Amino acid sequence: MRPEYVDFHTHLDLYPDLEQAIATCDSSRVATLAVTTTPKAFERNVEMSADSDFVRVGLGLHPQLVAERHLEIDLFESLLARTRYVGEIGLDRSPAHYRSFDLQKSIFGRILRACAKQGDKILSLHSVRATKPVLDMLDEHLPLDRGHVVLHWFSGSKADVRRAIDRGCYFSVNEGMLASATGGRVMREIPIDRVLTETDGPFLARGDNPIEPGDVTRAVEMIASSRGARVDDIRARILSNLKRLVQGD
Ligand code: MN
Repeated sequence: MRPEYVDFHTHLDLYPDLEQAIATCDSSRVATLAVTTTPKAFERNVEMSADSDFVRVGLGLHPQLVAERHLEIDLFESLLARTRYVGEIGLDRSPAHYRSFDLQKSIFGRILRACAKQGDKILSLHSVRATKPVLDMLDEHLPLDRGHVVLHWFSGSKADVRRAIDRGCYFSVNEGMLASATGGRVMREIPIDRVLTETDGPFLARGDNPIEPGDVTRAVEMIASSRGARVDDIRARILSNLKRLVQGD
């Protein structure tokens, strides 16, 4: 079965019913990357999605949880060989997480080195107020031929965007990001062949409700309108981008 859409960054296990969330992505035929925020959550996500045609699970250790969960890095490293997908990982220098920034960098460095050693991983990266340090650490710890990078909700400067493009990064964008001034600007700076869609569910809201699992329809429409392109052409481009990424070209 072929996918119809791509949601390359969502937290299905943070919806009230994980089984239902997986079923929704399957019935809507959304090629989904279900990221996790701690390595302890990985096993359950893998078990629940074992029969899914469209959901893949990322092994993660969220930078916002590093202060309290950094000891789980050992578990992360022991699970890494079981998956090609890694996320959510990265750095967060916003005020609430600034104090753990050095610890975040040490954990992120260990993760990148482990990924580089095993090779061919696909990483979904968080980079809040830390786009430059994330790019610096990629340069330092993940050689270009040792892994594939997707920048989730990227908000870097024009120079950071350029740098990320030059290093081969993809960008996963969501409707909340695209509605913001910075997100709209980033969207205009990235080539369409590096664009993936995401929901970052359930954190994005539609009115009073969280965004439905895998519902990237509005994001696709917003990309199409920003490019003056047809919605169906953009949808097809995003599917072919994912195919290229997964094939490792
Ligand atoms: Mn997220």
